[in-house]
Amino acid sequence: MAGYDYDLFVIGGGSGGVRAARVAAALGKRVGIAEEYRYGGTCVIRGCVPKKLYVYASQFPEHFADAAGYGWTVPQASFDWQTLVANKDREISRLEAIYKKNVQGAGGETFQSRAMLVDPHVVHLLGEDRTVTADQILIATGGRPAPHPALPGHEYCIFSNEAFDLQELPKAIMIEGGGYIAVEFANIFHGLGVDTTLVYRGKEILSRFDMDLRRMLHETMEKKGIRILCHAVSEWIRKRPDGRLDALLTGGKVLTVDQVMLAIGRLPNAENMGLEGVGIEMTQTGAINVDQYSRTNIDNIWAIGDVTNRVQLTPVAIHEAMCFVETAFKGNPTAPDHDTIATAVFSQPEIGTVGLSEDEAVKRFSDLEIYRATFRPMRHTLSGRDERMLMKLVVDGASKKVLGAHILGPDAGEMAQLLGIPLKAGLTKDDFDRTMAVHPTAAEELVTMYKPTYRVKDGERV
Ligand SMILES: Cc1cc2nc3c(=O)[nH]c(=O)nc-3n(C[C@H](O)[C@H](O)[C@H](O)COP(=O)(O)OP(=O)(O)OC[C@H]3O[C@@H](n4cnc5c(N)ncnc54)[C@H](O)[C@@H]3O)c2cc1C
Repeated sequence: MAGYDYDLFVIGGGSGGVRAARVAAALGKRVGIAEEYRYGGTCVIRGCVPKKLYVYASQFPEHFADAAGYGWTVPQASFDWQTLVANKDREISRLEAIYKKNVQGAGGETFQSRAMLVDPHVVHLLGEDRTVTADQILIATGGRPAPHPALPGHEYCIFSNEAFDLQELPKAIMIEGGGYIAVEFANIFHGLGVDTTLVYRGKEILSRFDMDLRRMLHETMEKKGIRILCHAVSEWIRKRPDGRLDALLTGGKVLTVDQVMLAIGRLPNAENMGLEGVGIEMTQTGAINVDQYSRTNIDNIWAIGDVTNRVQLTPVAIHEAMCFVETAFKGNPTAPDHDTIATAVFSQPEIGTVGLSEDEAVKRFSDLEIYRATFRPMRHTLSGRDERMLMKLVVDGASKKVLGAHILGPDAGEMAQLLGIPLKAGLTKDDFDRTMAVHPTAAEELVTMYKPTYRVKDGERV
C-alpha cells in the first residue's frame, strides 16, 4: 500500500512472527520485523530447541547403563555442564542466524529493537528511536514465565529461561509446577545427576493429559528417583548462610536445595507496548483478543501465537502465521484449525498424544471403547530396565471413530506425529485394524489391539 513504509510490520521475531514476515515478503510485500532480544524467539532460544538438546544430554546415563545387557562395557562416564551449555549456545546461534537470514533473503527488513504501537498504523522502534508506518501490523510477541511475587523469597527462584544457562549444575533442585515444562526439566536435571524434587499443587502432574499416562509417568519418574510431591506448594524460600535455599512446603516439610525453579505457567507479552493506547481488546488473562482469523478489534492489527493464549505451541504459532498471510494478503480468509493437535511431552519416558483423553471423551460420548496395552519395550528385554510402555486408543463405540491416541514410552512423540494424520482424517478403529503391522516395533501395538480392554457406557466402566 503506497503511503506507508511497509505493507506489513511484524512485532516479535519468534516462531509465528518470523514465519509471517518471511512468507509475506516472499509474496512481494514490503515487510519489516522487529525483535527485541534474539531472532528465533522462545522456541529456538529458550524453549523447544535447547530443551530437546538437554533431554538428549540427560538420557546418556540410562543408555550407558542399558548397554551392559547388550554386551558393552562402558568406562566410567563423566559429564561437563559447561560443555553442554556452550554447545547448545553454538547451535541456537546458528539457528538464530538462519531465522534472520531467511526473512532478509525473502526481501524483509529486520530490526533489532523493541517495538511499540503508537497508533493503528505507526510503530515506534525504541532501539532505533524512530517510527515506521505500516498498512497491516502483526503482533507476535509470545509469552514469558509467570512470576510468583506473592511467594516470600521468590527473588531467589529461577525460571525456565535461566535454567538453560546456570553457571553450574546444582546438586539439588526443587521445581514447582506440574505442566510439561516442569516435568521435562525434572527429568532433564535428574538425568544429569541432580537430586530433583517436583512440587505440584494439583492431584496429579500434567493435568490436561490422559490420566493413565499421567499416573504411569508419575510412577516411572519416582522409580527413577525423582521425588514428586502433589497437593503441595512452597510457602516461602529462604537463603541459608551457606548460600543454599530452604523451601518450606505445605505440611511443614523444609527442603534444602541449590536452586528453586518455578514453572507455574506463562503470561502473554502484551504489556508496555502501547496496546491500551491504541484500544486493542484484551482477554481476562491479559492475552490479545482475536477473532477466528487472528484479527484484533482493530481492523488492520492482527495477533498470533502465545500472545493470544490459544494453544501455546510452536507449530500452532506457525500455522496461525500461515493462515494470517492467506487471510490478509491472498484474499483467502483462513481460520486456524486448533482441533486434534498432536503433541509430546519430552519426559523420560516420553508422552505422545493426540485427540481426546478418556476423561474428556466420557463427557462427550455415551459409549466408548478403550483399547489399552502395557508391555515392556523390546529394547528393555536385554537392558533389563524395568520400564513399561503404555498405548491407549479411545474409540467412539457408535461410529468406531478413533477419538484419542495416547502413548507413554520411547519415541512416543514421533509416533504421535504420525497418529495425528489418521485422527485428523477421522479414521475409524476398523481402518487401524486393516493396517498391516510393522514388525518388530513398539508402534505395531496400535494396529493389533483387536478387542476393547473395557467399555465406558454413560460414564460407567463396564
Ligand atoms: C521451556 C519451553 C519449552 C517449550 N517446548 C516446546 C515444545 O517442545 N514444542 C512446542 O511446540 N512448543 C514448545 N514451547 C512453546 C513454544 O516455544 C511457543 O509456543 C512458541 O515459541 C510461540 O511462538 P510465538 O511466535 O508466539 O512467540 P515467541 O517464539 O515467544 O516469540 C516472540 C518474540 O517476540 C519478542 N518480543 C516480545 N515483545 C516484543 C516487542 N515489544 N518488540 C519486539 N520484540 C518483542 C520476544 O523477544 C520473542 O523473541 C516451549 C516453551 C518453553 C518456554
